[in-house]
Amino acid sequence: MSEGERLTELAKRRGFYFPSAGAYGGASGFWTYGPQGAALKSNIEDAWRDRFVVREGHQEISAPDVMPEPVFEASGHLAGFDDMIIECPGCGATHRADHLVEDNTDIEEAESLPNEEVMEIIADHDIECPSCGESLGGVSVDNFNLMFETNIGPGSSSPGYLRPETAQGIFVEFPQLSEYARNQLPFGVAQIGKAYRNEISPRKSLVRVREFTQAELEHFVDPEEDEPPLEDVEDVILPLYSGESQQADDGGVEEMTVGDAVAEGVITSDWVAYYLGVARDWYERIGVDMDRFRFRQHLPGELAHYASDCWDAETEIDGDWIEVTGFAYRGDYDLRKHADHSGEDFTVFKQYDEPVTVSRPTVDPEMSYLGPEFGGDAQAVADALEALAERDPDSFEGSEVTVEADGQSYTVPVEQTNFSVEEVTENGEHVRPHIVEPSFGVGRLIYTVLAHAYTEDEVDGEERTYLDLPPEQAPTTVGVFPLMDKDGMAEYAHDIADALRAAGHSVTYDDSGAIGRRYRRQDEVGTPYCVTVDYESLEEDTVTLRERDSTEQTRVSIDGLAETLDRLADGETTFDAL
Ligand code: ATP
Repeated sequence: MSEGERLTELAKRRGFYFPSAGAYGGASGFWTYGPQGAALKSNIEDAWRDRFVVREGHQEISAPDVMPEPVFEASGHLAGFDDMIIECPGCGATHRADHLVEDNTDIEEAESLPNEEVMEIIADHDIECPSCGESLGGVSVDNFNLMFETNIGPGSSSPGYLRPETAQGIFVEFPQLSEYARNQLPFGVAQIGKAYRNEISPRKSLVRVREFTQAELEHFVDPEEDEPPLEDVEDVILPLYSGESQQADDGGVEEMTVGDAVAEGVITSDWVAYYLGVARDWYERIGVDMDRFRFRQHLPGELAHYASDCWDAETEIDGDWIEVTGFAYRGDYDLRKHADHSGEDFTVFKQYDEPVTVSRPTVDPEMSYLGPEFGGDAQAVADALEALAERDPDSFEGSEVTVEADGQSYTVPVEQTNFSVEEVTENGEHVRPHIVEPSFGVGRLIYTVLAHAYTEDEVDGEERTYLDLPPEQAPTTVGVFPLMDKDGMAEYAHDIADALRAAGHSVTYDDSGAIGRRYRRQDEVGTPYCVTVDYESLEEDTVTLRERDSTEQTRVSIDGLAETLDRLADGETTFDAL
């Protein structure tokens, strides 16, 4: 059994996650988190909120899942949020063409290749339909938009889309959010919420699904002035798989401190470097195995056109690398697009310490000259003159000036432009912030944390499976068991469970079956400690405390039991020291 299959089996049996709507045959790409999974998910989200929102001093919002069409026209998703689809002529099954190439050749990032090339590779390698075995050579590779469309209200006059990323819910509200931040850069806005993508072929349980949770942070910064507190993370060691290494024959992951990676130009954005440093320690905190983890830089062909440096955090499962987070320096692309499409102001007014006097080149073209001379193109010529005056005032020094408008050149006598340079006093300027974005997929993190926590060993000659989850992430922090349901042991155990719950612990009470079985059940859901009440407890107010990983047991007083568990979880004491 592969790691993934073993995990999916355990996940279903123990209530982490399972395919949704099974009674009706299910719907591919939709999963329900069971009681353990929902608890693990909320623990991971809380740990994310703690590190990326609270500790960083950012704000969190919650925007709608459905957004109107103009949002996605502006963001570019309507025109270009596509994957490559290929339809089998034999059985009609659809597949992601780039994934077929990656699965059947040595090519790693087929997504960055043009459709025609992918089609050629499929033909050259005689790749077959994974569903029926029919040859896919010569079958066309097309674009498929991944957004789920809906109608807002009755009728179809107002199309809407389920958001394919939570980020747009932050970008479109920038003018309002900026007010809340008192128009002071830098500021960060985060959101944990659902995103929807109509994936062509969902696979690997939680890895590629059609509805998933993202935790995204949009950090708005002044590109001229703001710098991240790199000194806080400069000594963090990052496993970096740079673009250069990926392209070299013998390239591999290189361990480098954040400070060195920036100094040597391996990571070009200080902001991205800062978040890689913060995130690396956070992944370790939630239970990602750091020996099965790397940051991979996007190759030039893979980079979104607006992004200058992007790195993906990737985790290894079953020998495959899975992207769990994307870190991107997005420049001003998103705010510019929304400003252009909405006509609203997506800038921040930055007040100067002192007013400054600047020379401002202006033109006021004579339309009575441009009109007869250039007809319908006159306004475009006037606009081009205005832009040129701002960009390159020196070009107005001669007697004529030439501008380009709609692909044509127009020459205008400078005297007809009324070019002048005015001295103006300015109190500040409008700055369009740049955006640094760490974008986490919560489901893929859950899958990783579970896969990396999955451990098999032997206890008293018997095979055992347990999840060595960090106590902070474990769905249940303590199991409480009465040895037997008699002589007051159950009541005593219930009281302990209640007291532990009141102290903030997540407790599972279990009185069914042999005590060994109960331990095994808790081991399989990663419960770090179990407490057993026996006859001695009734007399001496002590219980048996058992540690999951070592299976060792010791007797502790019930006085201060909750604090003992907290100190163990926080690493302030060890089990041996109790
Ligand atoms: P991929 O290349 O794997 O499709 P992506 O680069 O499109 O992912 P992003 O748009 O960067 O992903 O989304 C940010 C994060 O959201 C990803 O790192 C991943 O963890 C998560 N994510 C994206 N698509 C899915 C999906 N279909 N199912 C589960 N998680 C997803």
